[in-house]
Amino acid sequence: METITVKFGGSSLADAAQFRKVAEIITADPRRAFVVVSAPGRRFADDTKVTDLLYQAFEHAGTPAFAGTWAQIAERFETIVRELDLNVDLGLDDVKAEIEAGANQDYCASRGEYLNAKIMAALLDRPFIDAADCVFFRADGSFDAARTDETLGAALADKTGAVVPGFYGANPDGSVRTFSRGGSDITGAIVARASGSSCYENWTDVSGILAADPRIVADALPIREITYRELREMAYMGASVLHEDAIYPARTAGIPIRIRNTNAPGDPGTVISREASGEHLLPVTGIAGKKDFSIIHIEKDQMNETPGFVSKVIEPFAARGISIEHLPTGIDSMCVVVPTAQIRDSRTELLCDIRDAVSPDVILVENDMALVAVVGRGMVRRKGVAARLFGALAQAGVNVRMIDQGSGELNIIVGVDTADYETAIRALYGAFFA
Ligand code: ASP
Repeated sequence: METITVKFGGSSLADAAQFRKVAEIITADPRRAFVVVSAPGRRFADDTKVTDLLYQAFEHAGTPAFAGTWAQIAERFETIVRELDLNVDLGLDDVKAEIEAGANQDYCASRGEYLNAKIMAALLDRPFIDAADCVFFRADGSFDAARTDETLGAALADKTGAVVPGFYGANPDGSVRTFSRGGSDITGAIVARASGSSCYENWTDVSGILAADPRIVADALPIREITYRELREMAYMGASVLHEDAIYPARTAGIPIRIRNTNAPGDPGTVISREASGEHLLPVTGIAGKKDFSIIHIEKDQMNETPGFVSKVIEPFAARGISIEHLPTGIDSMCVVVPTAQIRDSRTELLCDIRDAVSPDVILVENDMALVAVVGRGMVRRKGVAARLFGALAQAGVNVRMIDQGSGELNIIVGVDTADYETAIRALYGAFFA
């Protein structure tokens, strides 16, 4: 039978009521065979995530503050177990003892997922598989995909319906190691691949990836379908829903990821896949953006006839490890767009090096620029997208300071003053989605 891997985020598992919703979702579809869980998240706006409490517990181990922090952690799990009326021994005292005895930071941080998976396995009456036994890292800290696929694949094959804690695995010496924050998304993708699932459902607290940042466009609609490449563009430009490293295992295995809302399970959510069906294709899939960029503007007469000019300009950036975001060039001028934070301490030396390298007629730095990207596979060879984009910005009184179109016609990026950032995003959303 076709199987689905489901991963639930922290807000979906923050308390007993959320656990019940999750159990209902899982049992509603018999294909939902493999379950990956995060640690209990926030129950209300200023609540603390259990993972954050566990990092605190690690810091407090061996000090008088430890008892109070541990009490908060234990209380979260004990309350969930009690309210779910489960008869399960989580081994909380053993975890506490390990942390007090000096367990490493990653071990401490990982216990939220470990304990939540124990609870979920008991609630569903399904087997628990410890990620430390089948998700592996190499000695250099990188994820060992081949070893994981083999061991995890075998473990899942004879335990259909297992619950696996997200976020962590083991080092070659068996000690626990975590992915970066939000890493349960990665575990979900790894489990989907190792189990041969036909879909990876990632359940969270929003009804999919939104077409624009909801803090700027309050009623932004969810995107119905998006390709991995478009998502990468959106994520790079600041949109965040899924851990970026979760895309790779799913993409290489050709497994679509579906983002869904635990609190609104009837909503269709967003499907991320290699080739979207085209059923919901709009000229623009989404709008994203980032602030705090600087432009280094360089002019030199006959620039286009000087071989190696561009490479001489960018060499001082590379030498300092500064990442160049965009490089629009004209005939006798070019711009280098970089994150302001990366040139803050070395600006004077950087400009000196560029002067020495190419003796420009003009070199100046402008700060306070924001980049706004309009992303969409539907733009390819479609007439009028650029006209609509620039028309909307002009009408909103936004001055465009830089234009860059990605070579795959998957995005158009414009640089605007930081003060115009929100106005630009709202104007573009209005032009393409309203
Ligand atoms: N609980 C971990 C975190 O807060 C991992 C996750 O939720 O994916 O980052």
